[in-house]
Amino acid sequence: MYLKTGEEYIQDMIDMNFELYIDGGKISGKSVVNHPKVKPMIKAIATTYDMQHEEKLKDFLLTKSHFTGETISRWTHVAQTVEDLIRKVDITRYANRRIGMCSFRCVHNAFPALLATTKKIDEAKGTHYYKNAVEYIKYFQKKDLIGCPAMTDPKGDRLLKAHEQSDPDMYLRVVEKDRDGIVLRGAKLCQTGSVCAHEKFVAPSTTHYPGSEDYAVCCAVPGNAKGIKNISARYSQDDRRREDLEWDIGNPKYGFHETVVIFDDVFVPWERVFMCGEVEFTGMLVNLLGACHRPTTGGCKTGWSDVLIGAVQAYAELNGTANVSHVREKITDMISYNETMYSCGIAACVKATYYEGAGMIPDIILANNTKYVASKAVYELIRLAEDITGGIITTLPSEKEFKNPEIAHYLARFYAGANETPAEHRARIVRLIENLTYGAGALCHSAAHGGGSGQACKITMYYASKGEPLQSRVRDAKRICGIGKEEE
Ligand SMILES: Cc1cc2nc3c(=O)[nH]c(=O)nc-3n(C[C@H](O)[C@H](O)[C@H](O)COP(=O)(O)OP(=O)(O)OC[C@H]3O[C@@H](n4cnc5c(N)ncnc54)[C@H](O)[C@@H]3O)c2cc1C
Repeated sequence: MYLKTGEEYIQDMIDMNFELYIDGGKISGKSVVNHPKVKPMIKAIATTYDMQHEEKLKDFLLTKSHFTGETISRWTHVAQTVEDLIRKVDITRYANRRIGMCSFRCVHNAFPALLATTKKIDEAKGTHYYKNAVEYIKYFQKKDLIGCPAMTDPKGDRLLKAHEQSDPDMYLRVVEKDRDGIVLRGAKLCQTGSVCAHEKFVAPSTTHYPGSEDYAVCCAVPGNAKGIKNISARYSQDDRRREDLEWDIGNPKYGFHETVVIFDDVFVPWERVFMCGEVEFTGMLVNLLGACHRPTTGGCKTGWSDVLIGAVQAYAELNGTANVSHVREKITDMISYNETMYSCGIAACVKATYYEGAGMIPDIILANNTKYVASKAVYELIRLAEDITGGIITTLPSEKEFKNPEIAHYLARFYAGANETPAEHRARIVRLIENLTYGAGALCHSAAHGGGSGQACKITMYYASKGEPLQSRVRDAKRICGIGKEEE
């Protein structure tokens, strides 16, 4: 049994010697890990590794690999039971609540989808992808790794298929194949933690059709493979990630980091390839990946919103409004939105189906509904948070002003709260609310598009329902109003 510690994880990231284009230049190695815009994400992930060693969390976070029987982290496990799926939602909620943001240990969500699809491809085509997938997951578990899901292609004109784009690299593609492996060219956008993860799990962002065979590629690439170039994203509040500021960012310790990842002719050996050209299986892979991943939203966004609800309640208390009826009602609405997201995730897990040789895959309609509900609910949560907190979210002076001796006494006086709560407490809580709503840790962006857009979930739900259960509902409606047969 090997369970990585936070310290070992940080050392891994230093050893991987990532290169990152940021602030107009290029940095590498330790400078990436210690960069003020990257470090908070490294710290967040390191904290999840340390959680695995906490005595009180061992039963909660650890399990046995169904491949080897070895004790492993649940963040590398392939869900085999409904209980495993529910636990996945719960550990995500726990971790996100503890750090106040995305805990980023969710690439293993892809594993049942990967196993189920590779098995089907092998049965139809005589390929060996399933064995590759099994061996890869065993390696991932044994080394207790973290992966970055590399799915989102640039996509150019969204209405054109991959092979119809004027630039052939608008979707990541295979440009060479030989006896040893394949070569990838293109890019993946919006990559969370690409310089904070050991591995990239590369998969198509959409279903591909005949003619787009070069784009039907699924494989695993070491995060620092030759030819990978990471270009840092620009964030709102980037300027607050500075050494001389302590709390102006709202969540001083933890934060995200996203990149554009360029694949400049990256070689991948065959044993790490799980799909290469089998265009007719891209729909199965993409849909099952969505079904496996999206119930986790019911833990992810809820853990994050738990912190938002707590911050808003704390703010109402120091504002003296916590017991005012409309504030209580609004806090209760926030709780209701949050628990609705959670319930959707749990329901998708409870109604899961076992895929032979793979694992438990949540119900596709309920899974997509979880993400769709979350993509809207978070905006209600944010609206209510802003309502209760007031204009201070966008108008509070900076920490530097709070610390300027010439004016600090004014701010200490005019931002003091009920029961003599110090102004700095009000400011810190407001900054956290700002972080979670409109700032560097805003949960709305991750809920709107992270893991697939609400619209993509809606389309999937429609097509998964279009035959059944929609048609039996039509028959029921007709029977009840007297234009259908009674026996139906
Ligand atoms: C915080 C965050 C973290 C993320 N992390 C990752 C990550 O780690 N890995 C990763 O791979 N991706 C990641 N993503 C990307 C995410 O999966 C995508 O943003 C999402 O799938 C939407 O794709 P897009 O951004 O290209 O938007 P688009 O696909 O351009 O969508 C924009 C709008 O256009 C509509 N649209 C698009 N195409 C069509 C069409 N053909 N017909 C009709 N309407 C269409 C969509 O429905 C949507 O309403 C992350 C995103 C965010 C915001």
